[in-house]
Amino acid sequence: MSFEQQLQKYPRAEIRSQALKATRQRIDQALRHPRLSMEDFAALLSPQLTDNQLELMATRAHQITKQRFGRTILLYAPLYLSNECHNGCKYCGFSADNHLPRKTLALAEVEREAKLLRSQGFRHMLLLTGEAPESAGIDYLEQAVHTVKTHCGSVSIEVFPMGTPGYQRMVAAGVDGLTLYQETYDPELYCDLHPYGAKSDYSYRLQAPERAGEAGLRRIGVGALLGLGDCLTDVFYTGLHALYLARRFWRTQVTISFPRMRPAEGGYQPNSIVSDRQLTQFICALRLLIPDAGLILSTRESAELRDNLLPLGITQMSAGSCTSPGGYGEDDNGGEQFAINDHRTPAEMEALLRARGYDPVWKDWDSAFLNQVS
Ligand code: SF4
Repeated sequence: MSFEQQLQKYPRAEIRSQALKATRQRIDQALRHPRLSMEDFAALLSPQLTDNQLELMATRAHQITKQRFGRTILLYAPLYLSNECHNGCKYCGFSADNHLPRKTLALAEVEREAKLLRSQGFRHMLLLTGEAPESAGIDYLEQAVHTVKTHCGSVSIEVFPMGTPGYQRMVAAGVDGLTLYQETYDPELYCDLHPYGAKSDYSYRLQAPERAGEAGLRRIGVGALLGLGDCLTDVFYTGLHALYLARRFWRTQVTISFPRMRPAEGGYQPNSIVSDRQLTQFICALRLLIPDAGLILSTRESAELRDNLLPLGITQMSAGSCTSPGGYGEDDNGGEQFAINDHRTPAEMEALLRARGYDPVWKDWDSAFLNQVS
């Protein structure tokens, strides 16, 4: 059964009602279960959750994470290759509707950025593009991956969705991981937010993580952009999606991100504001649902909040990020995708983690483990 078929079994209105109507007793019952059912998970997303229940959930999330991952945080850096894009996503600074300097890095510039990040300690880089196949398509990505791989051992991509053969080419080029947010799991809202361009195909995007799993990507990340739609159901379906992938592709590590809307070119206003408390609740609930999932927190969030969320289940963090192509180097760079909120340098993040008793991990994987060329 595909994930799209599985989704049909969990009607949006029913899930929302389960979460909204969950009583204190029902939430307590869910908290007693060592393995959550999807109904338990919906209850833990409830706005009725009390402060005491949230505290209990946070303690359990901390214990599970310590047990499964130890006190380690994988640090990574986003490397924007291009901000050219033919899509009109209403919430994104790179939308084709926005007038900003457009740029796709030449390979020499990619190398300069990778070297710079390497000199800051990074050995795990996330390559990002918009969707402009003529300037930053699969051929270009292969070359960029080869270039970056000479400076760091682990490369992930956050780019346009591909077919299975495209993902196979990425694996062959040395890509370990994929991040692909569905943005929202509400098909009608998705349609409204993505009025034109290839990204307007909801199903093609929804099925992409499965195609990546079939192609053998080692790490696959999902998430919804919180604030676009109803966050209760979007977090519920994100958990369902991650669980589906973890069960179907058991050799692949599943990761989950919970990006909240940030100011961006175009001035899109979120439909709903996800509070810090809600974000904390969602992270803890996802940790209880999938104990082995990597949970990622980016520099979209403030330094203070990132520090507070650190012990609750987070396993990966970005640091010193720049969201425009060429932004780490000296030259003129293109416009940024969104404004970041934690401006600490990688060295400051490393020091903070050590001070809090965590081991910063700069790389946790090398394809040489599989006797492949790295
Ligand atoms: S979200 Fe991605 S696809 Fe949409 S406009 Fe931004 S860069 Fe392009």
